[in-house]
Amino acid sequence: MNILPIFENHKRPILIAGPCSAETEEQVMETAAQLAANGGVDAFRAGIWKPRTRPGSFEGVGAPGLKWMQQVKKEYGFKITTEVANHAQVFDALKAGVDILWLGARTTVNPFSVQEVADALQGIDIPVMIKNPINPDLELWVGAIERIYNAGITRIAAIHRGFSTHQKTAYRNQPMWEMPLELMRRFPDLQIINDPSHICGNRHMLQATAQKAMDLNFDGLIIESHRDPVKAWSDAAQQIVPSVLRELIDSLVVRDEKVRDAITAATLENLRANIDEMDADLFQILTQRMKLSEQIGLHKRENNISVFQPDRWNMILEKAVERVKPLGLSEGFIVAILNAIHQESINHQVKIMNEK
Ligand code: PEP
Ligand code: MN
Repeated sequence: MNILPIFENHKRPILIAGPCSAETEEQVMETAAQLAANGGVDAFRAGIWKPRTRPGSFEGVGAPGLKWMQQVKKEYGFKITTEVANHAQVFDALKAGVDILWLGARTTVNPFSVQEVADALQGIDIPVMIKNPINPDLELWVGAIERIYNAGITRIAAIHRGFSTHQKTAYRNQPMWEMPLELMRRFPDLQIINDPSHICGNRHMLQATAQKAMDLNFDGLIIESHRDPVKAWSDAAQQIVPSVLRELIDSLVVRDEKVRDAITAATLENLRANIDEMDADLFQILTQRMKLSEQIGLHKRENNISVFQPDRWNMILEKAVERVKPLGLSEGFIVAILNAIHQESINHQVKIMNEK
């Protein structure tokens, strides 16, 4: 794939801002005016068609709202962007001169819908941003990127907006940072934008989440901003006024993507060489541990004992958790590592048990 940037040679972070939904002409124009006055915005977002979980909530003003966005573009020079989910919406958005389209989380999750949008875009050169699907399935996210790319769209970005869960957590949508990081690894040229608004679902966690995105080398941020957040017709709890958005952006520490000077580079190289050596030691120890486990497997076979011994396994876990407490390692980490080791160990033993 030869994916091109939507925002060329841009200093991080790219900033996309605007209300969750376009509500009225005044709300759109006033919000845009305040965003323009505070500066720093690269594109103005507003939802025209809103995919809501339950019927009866505000589902967007529809096509008439596109006129207000056109006006924003004309008056403030912002690029304008909105969510599209079907053929008719693509048609209306293109007719209205929308500069960038995005696929929402509820669209990315459905290959039929993604393909419908892709088909509507055949032969058209417009940038498209693709939000992660609502469930943590990286292949669905990649599949949507591929469908849009196969339609001939080359300027593509991904938006990380978190993943829904039935558990009650501090986040509205779990960030699961490992998902966008894996996407970055697989598509080094793909610009990735973080959406702290839909991850947090509240105002007070936005800054920390945006900072984390900067620390992890995200290219940009899409943040919902409204002239009067409390009265917003959708996502009222997570929107911020343009002046607060400006403060948030100014507060971010943006780190260099690459090491610039020779001394820092040498220090890093040194530390990394140590890490590589330690990894090699770890592999060595793991191999030895596996050999021991195979001996136990042989012994179990001779004495006809089953491979899995729940009591022993519980004891190993309990002891490990106690041991790592003072070491500054998290319980989750040590349990995950031991689980992986245990699984590998079981695989080796099962193989031995069944050798003729
Ligand atoms: C939105 O951006 O307002 C929106 C509906 O987002 P998502 O698709 O991430 O839920
Ligand atoms: Mn929203």
